[in-house]
Amino acid sequence: MPKVLLSTPCQPYPTHAWNDSLTDVMSQRFTKGQDIFTMSGHQHCFGSHLIAQNLSVPSVFLEYPTWEGFEDEARKGYDYVGISFFPTCMEIVLDMCKTVRRLSPSSQIVLGHYGALAFDAAFPEDFKREHADHVCIGEGVGFFRELLGEPVMAPVRQSHMPKCSFSLPWLDYYAKGMQGFTVAGLGCPSGCDFCSTTQMHGNAWVQLATPQQIFQELKRAFREDPDLQQMAIYDEDLFKHKEFVTELRELIENDEEMGLRRLDFFALGSVESLSQYDWDEIARTGLGTIFIGLESKFAPDRGYQKRSGDARETFTELQRRGITIIGGWMCGFDFHDRVNVFDDLDYFISLEPTSHQLTKVTAFPGTPLWERLKEEGRLREIPWEDVNFYGGGFKHKNFEDHEIMEILLHGYRKSYETHGPTLMRQLKVELNGYEYCRASQNQALRERRAERHREHCEQLYPLIRACEHFAPNGIVRRKIRQMEERYLKNFGQPSSALKAQSAYILAKAFQEKARESLLPRNREPRQEPFKKYLYSGRAPVGDESPYRVVYPNRDQDWSYRLDRAWMDLKLGAMGQAFKALDAIDQLRGRQLTRTSGAQPRTRL
Ligand code: SF4
Repeated sequence: MPKVLLSTPCQPYPTHAWNDSLTDVMSQRFTKGQDIFTMSGHQHCFGSHLIAQNLSVPSVFLEYPTWEGFEDEARKGYDYVGISFFPTCMEIVLDMCKTVRRLSPSSQIVLGHYGALAFDAAFPEDFKREHADHVCIGEGVGFFRELLGEPVMAPVRQSHMPKCSFSLPWLDYYAKGMQGFTVAGLGCPSGCDFCSTTQMHGNAWVQLATPQQIFQELKRAFREDPDLQQMAIYDEDLFKHKEFVTELRELIENDEEMGLRRLDFFALGSVESLSQYDWDEIARTGLGTIFIGLESKFAPDRGYQKRSGDARETFTELQRRGITIIGGWMCGFDFHDRVNVFDDLDYFISLEPTSHQLTKVTAFPGTPLWERLKEEGRLREIPWEDVNFYGGGFKHKNFEDHEIMEILLHGYRKSYETHGPTLMRQLKVELNGYEYCRASQNQALRERRAERHREHCEQLYPLIRACEHFAPNGIVRRKIRQMEERYLKNFGQPSSALKAQSAYILAKAFQEKARESLLPRNREPRQEPFKKYLYSGRAPVGDESPYRVVYPNRDQDWSYRLDRAWMDLKLGAMGQAFKALDAIDQLRGRQLTRTSGAQPRTRL
């Protein structure tokens, strides 16, 4: 029986442009530039899990391994070693290939993900053969099944993907996972020239699950974990597939057990795809957060199909219904000049995205943009570690590289100084959602979704005082105060536990402010713990997890263990104290809508 080893690149990783962690999208992009309210989080690498879950032979997946851990495993003589990576880790992966060739010469090396697309495009044939035996450009499950002689078209299984987390690092640095993950499909037919995804899958959509399967996985995940906040349904543009979304909406909306009260998901979408729906229909799917790549105010006139439709209406109507938006904007298109770029950025900020991704137009090897720039002689040699969203990698028509970086920083700053921290923008959208759903004619929105928004408002309430105290300016401070008034108007005075939590967070915020001036968080960008997932190759029975997790370095990881022990102790004591305050409130005749937790929970 063949043996399969899958791995991410070995750590330590290069950092992103401003010395931000490569694996932490919250601090690196989504809440960047928000002073002490910049959030932090951890991510998992799902593609390799999906492959491992669908092989009928045992496999091991190393997530964020150390070099020693990877070498120990490579020595065991696997038949196949698959490495999935982003181009920014190319140098690390080339060294890993050499390591496998040295320690286990009979292993066949398979490279996958966006890094494989770049590897295939950038290197000559003999160099590629020297480092790898197979390059997987496209869907990985079918690729591996074919390699192993297994039925390629067999149904795809997926469950129990590890959960990601997002929180303020000074409240809980190693926050427990609160966002699950499942995949609806891969690839995207929109064909944007800068996009690796559409290129990897030949501008096609590869469906991997039915709406019924996604619904069952959502329910399993929410049933199993009472702290789960959201599931990510991965698909590059989920709402493009109207039949799929309509069926999923019917299942969620009519579900008696949880329905819109509990089920909540994150998706990626576009202005074009969302414009196909009635706005209420989208709210009735259970969509909680969506990533929309706006890219530029001028994109519709430049042939980007995904931008047909009214972006302002899309942002306004979704946020009015309590759906938070991560907006994407890009700087350095050929049509950008030193004047219109600021007009473009201001348009983006005026849409008030809940969180943001401001990046440089980058020529990722293998994309049509990269091919065109190569023909025009405009590609520039940059180190592989800079081939990421802030790398560029080509001669921009109207800018020097440093100007673009300055514009991006200016954009993050301006967004924060205009709308305040993402956490308060979330509260605003949740208040919108609560008020909208309460007034809705639709029963599921009125009776179920409104309660979900109320719960999120209560979770965010204790952050108001700290955000108000450390607001970047008077405009933002006033907005936060107005939001608190709106909260009180809707829900009345907060419980004693919420007030105590609020005081605790304010004290922690003072502490963080002092810490940040002495030891800025980006001096020590986050690295991830090394995990080893063991898959048996057998189909799980019922709701059984398909893998076992081992932490090879846990014994040496004293700082993590101490942090967890201290957090458990502290949160346990705070939880008891808040329960006691809730009990006192109830004795005084106050109705509580939920039991206070020790920690505010936030979604993406
Ligand atoms: S819409 Fe998004 S995923 Fe689709 S091609 Fe464009 S950038 Fe890529």
